[in-house]
Order: sequence, then C-alpha cells, then structure tokens
Amino acid sequence: MASYKTQGIILKRTNLGEADRILTIYTKNKGKIKVVAKGVRKTLSKLAGHLELFCLTKLEIAEGRNLDIITGADTLKCFIKIRSNLEATNTAYYLAEIVQNLMAENQSHPEIFKLLDEVLEHLDNGQSKLLLAYFEINFLSYAGFRPELYHCLSCDKDAISKENYFSFHEGGLVCGECHKGDIKISDEAIKVLRLFLNRRISAIQKIKTHPKLAKEIENITSSYINNIYQKEFKSKRFLKTR
Ligand SMILES: [Zn+2]
Repeated sequence: MASYKTQGIILKRTNLGEADRILTIYTKNKGKIKVVAKGVRKTLSKLAGHLELFCLTKLEIAEGRNLDIITGADTLKCFIKIRSNLEATNTAYYLAEIVQNLMAENQSHPEIFKLLDEVLEHLDNGQSKLLLAYFEINFLSYAGFRPELYHCLSCDKDAISKENYFSFHEGGLVCGECHKGDIKISDEAIKVLRLFLNRRISAIQKIKTHPKLAKEIENITSSYINNIYQKEFKSKRFLKTR
C-alpha cells in the first residue's frame, strides 16, 4: 500500500463504529482530506492524544481502498489557549467551517494552509476581533475570489477618493457612477483591506481603536464570503464579536 507524509490541521472529528474516527484535515500538501483513524478511541491507542481538534499534526497516511488511513501522528503545535476560551473556540469552529465548506478535497493550496496556521496562532495569543476579517479576505483571495481594490470593475477608472462602493456580486470596487445599490466603502476601509491582502496582519492593531471602521470592514468581508457560500455558516451564530 502506498503511503505519504504531510502536516495538517484537524478541522473536524466524527466517531465511526466503536473505536474509530473519521477526520477532516487541512493538509499542507494535499489540501483538504478525509481520513480514518483506526482504534483512536481506545485508551492504549498510540494515535490518541495526537489528533485533537485545531492542532497542527505531523501525519503518516496509508492509501486505503475507500478512505486513506492514518498510520502515524505526532502533534507539532496545539493551540491550548483557544480551547480554554469559549469565544476563541467558536472562532476556530467558524474558520474550520469555512475551509471545510468552500474547499474541495485533494486540492493543494499551501497558502491557505499557512494562513490558517497563522490565524490560529494569533487567535491563540488572544486576538479575535478583525482576525476573522483578515482570514476571510485572504482565504477568498487564495480560493479564487481576490477582490479588486484599485479600479472600478465596470469602467476601470482608478478608485477615486470618497466615492467607492463594494460589489459582492462583481467582487470588488465600483465607482460612484457605475454602482447599482452596492454598499458604500470608506477610503480607510479600502486601505486596510489592501494591507490585509498584502498579509500585513499587524494592521489589525491599528484599527482596534476605531470601532466604526472595524465594523465596516467586518461587515464587508463577512457579507462577501456569505455571498459566495450562499448559505449561512452554522458556527457563526455563536460568535459574539459578529
Ligand atoms: Zn465606474
């Protein structure tokens, strides 16, 4: 049987039979995978304790006839503080739900793996507000929905100060003349989203003191992702920061 090694973040665990589990994992090399951990619920299992939710884990996997099978697991990083804080736990569930629902299986996107790891790390350090907006906009960008933030999507004119709208349907800015009832977006929000897309996570700190701007940005990124998913994310209703 062929086997492979990779690193992955555990997104979901479902019990199977008496002692097994099916795991959904976001891996560095293969993107989202669904695998079986046999006997993992038995006390003496060597895998037990190494396949916890949201942990970054080194994996050895054998190709199976139906689902692949985990043959070795070693925890690299467990975000312990996330699990001791309810809001952080709910935020992690929301991140996991986004990745599970919007990514296809076995499609490698190492940038999304890195982004997920980075955001969980910050969440573990106590950050939660705006971190979701940062995740959403970058996730969408890597998933093929990078928003246009420099030109009007209809007439291609440069974004002019104070007269811009964000079209969820078109995926980015439309100018004052071309917009069709889209949501208005402030110059500050455009600047922050550009910084976010350049992976400047430090921008979050600067906006913390501007609750109105933070709200505007969160509203845009969460509406944009909902518009693409076209459904409600179940875990979202448990988030207080939203
Ligand atoms: Zn225009």
